[in-house]
Amino acid sequence: MVYQASATRYAEMKYNRVGQSGLKLPAISLGLWHNFGGLDIHENGRAMLLRSFDLGITHFDLANNYGPPPGSAEEMFGKVLKSDLGAYRDELIISTKAGYHMWEGPYGEWGSKKYLIASLDQSLKRMGLDYVDIFYSHRPDPNTPFEETMAALDQIVRQGKALYVGLSNYTAEQTQQAAEILKKLGTPLLIHQPSYSMLNRWIENGLQDVLDEYGAGSIAFCPLQQGLLTNKYISGVPSDSRAAGKSVFLNAKDITEEKLTMIVRLNEIASSRGQSLAQMALAWALRGGRLTSALIGASRVSQIEENVAALKNLEFSADELDAIEKILKA
Ligand code: NDP
Repeated sequence: MVYQASATRYAEMKYNRVGQSGLKLPAISLGLWHNFGGLDIHENGRAMLLRSFDLGITHFDLANNYGPPPGSAEEMFGKVLKSDLGAYRDELIISTKAGYHMWEGPYGEWGSKKYLIASLDQSLKRMGLDYVDIFYSHRPDPNTPFEETMAALDQIVRQGKALYVGLSNYTAEQTQQAAEILKKLGTPLLIHQPSYSMLNRWIENGLQDVLDEYGAGSIAFCPLQQGLLTNKYISGVPSDSRAAGKSVFLNAKDITEEKLTMIVRLNEIASSRGQSLAQMALAWALRGGRLTSALIGASRVSQIEENVAALKNLEFSADELDAIEKILKA
């Protein structure tokens, strides 16, 4: 059946300005790191993408290596653009990245101009796009001068292959250096994509100040700590969860007794707010408005629906914030 986007898709979502730029992103964005690869069920991925768009999620985040196999998430997304979402291209913010290992030899990873330009050309082909909205340097390269990596990002924008550029996994100091170079080149840093959640708060220690200084925004990856900050692991590891599956990034052994105790206590606060733990974790990440967007993953449509409903209650009382701090510091 031909997909027709919901007429009410912009009714509930909240859109935040990215730093001092003219661009807005949805408060919740969807990433295709897990569950959209060539080994996953295409129809499930397609359903998640279409439901997301119907809920006002206009931003989809990819990378050259998402799969498995690497590249297959971009191919999958390209198929859905062709079959369903292509008619809405101007309503979408599509990002991709290069930095991690993608192909053999000295030009298949890190931050050289050779790698970044070639990788984006491959990504555009896989997705069937003329341009992406945001292109990221996925990680800093200790062996390539930032001048070269940033010149590649600047060139990509000037060639019209990306509209904006971003950095991911750069420290506060590295971000400062890179943002300064980008500013001089005339292609300002739009956004940083760091990890951030209740259980991982490194960006509060300097990075957010650097981003404010350069008028850049931030989009947090793994705001649910890959599913730990939900109620799914409270009574064991479900067989269809990421921790039970093939992902090497989350294992059952990561779910320690100590973390579970914390999760149970956080879950109680969430319940008292009338939210699930996933919803409270997203609201918490977005608290105070410093983050532009929380970049979630999902394995099924119902998770996306639940997570977007977090936006119905983004306010925290001082007592709630104190109680959460106590649990996180215990
Ligand atoms: P999350 O922390 O949001 O974890 C998502 C996982 O949590 C889902 O796959 C699902 O796992 C579980 N989940 C989500 N919602 C619920 C819910 N309501 N109830 C129960 N379980 C839920 O993010 P990800 O780790 O998936 O990362 C998100 C995105 O961030 C990636 O797709 C990617 O775009 C980006 N990213 C970027 C990185 C970078 O270096 N720049 C690195 C990592 C991610 P389950 O399968 O168990 O159901």
